[in-house]
Amino acid sequence: MFFIENIYRVQRKLLLVDEVKLMSSDLHTHTTCSDGLFTPEELITAAREAGLSYIAITDHDTVDGICQLYEQGLYPNPGIRIIPGIEFSAHHETSEIHILGYNIDIYNRELGDRLNDVVEARWTRFSTMVGKLQELGYDISETDVLEFADVSTSISRSHIAQAMVKKGYFPSIRDTFDQLLEKGRPAYVSNYRLEPGEIIDLIKNSGGTPVLAHPKLVYDDALVEDLLKNGIEGIEAIYPRHDEEDTKRYLAMADKYHLLVTGGSDFHGIAGRAPQSLGEFVVADSYAEALYREPAL
Ligand SMILES: [Zn+2]
Ligand SMILES: [Zn+2]
Repeated sequence: MFFIENIYRVQRKLLLVDEVKLMSSDLHTHTTCSDGLFTPEELITAAREAGLSYIAITDHDTVDGICQLYEQGLYPNPGIRIIPGIEFSAHHETSEIHILGYNIDIYNRELGDRLNDVVEARWTRFSTMVGKLQELGYDISETDVLEFADVSTSISRSHIAQAMVKKGYFPSIRDTFDQLLEKGRPAYVSNYRLEPGEIIDLIKNSGGTPVLAHPKLVYDDALVEDLLKNGIEGIEAIYPRHDEEDTKRYLAMADKYHLLVTGGSDFHGIAGRAPQSLGEFVVADSYAEALYREPAL
């Protein structure tokens, strides 16, 4: 009996190794080009060290991370399959809608022009928010925040929050958002955003696949279904903040509307924001394989 159990354990172990091998992709990550902590190069190194087979870089409103990797000779990469991506925030009165775009042509002219508009609007918003904080009596300057933005062209509220935490005003980024930066709080300024339909067309026109990101965070399944019926080609059903029930529900929606299923960790590398390391939350390689294209650059 003891012997049989041991064999079973060995087999189980082999099975797990096999399962791990097939479960090593992450289709949602951020770098210093938006609000992540790792440079694109560091992210790729970390992903290789974590043994990932596929990684998609999906920075907010920018494809600079992929451009940098390409220019450094790191994309394509012999150690890992990289999928160029982006994450857009869409305009909506009440909900937070994020749309991922995979396999976009990073040098597409129309995409580049629209992204410039968005980035420019982000800088105006950033100045206005810092101004509001100063009016509220906080000793904070644009330079203090820029220290955290590093090479990012996609300045965001996270950068402002990081500067406020460093100055000792709040214990965490979350607290800063809750007190000051969230919609309805005193330093909030609304953002210029493209309409969902505009984003979907932009992604498709640059050769990409539009995917609805973390549908649970839309907090409105009727709206989710509405989006799925209007040009979205995939749904990020697998996400750290989805529980088992959520995942099942979104997988069923993918089935109903004949959509691709994707999943990713939304890794930022920022302390206090899960997951803390790459490889902690991964999805089956088959989801990545369905999206992966050999780089045409
Ligand atoms: Zn998002
Ligand atoms: Zn994200």
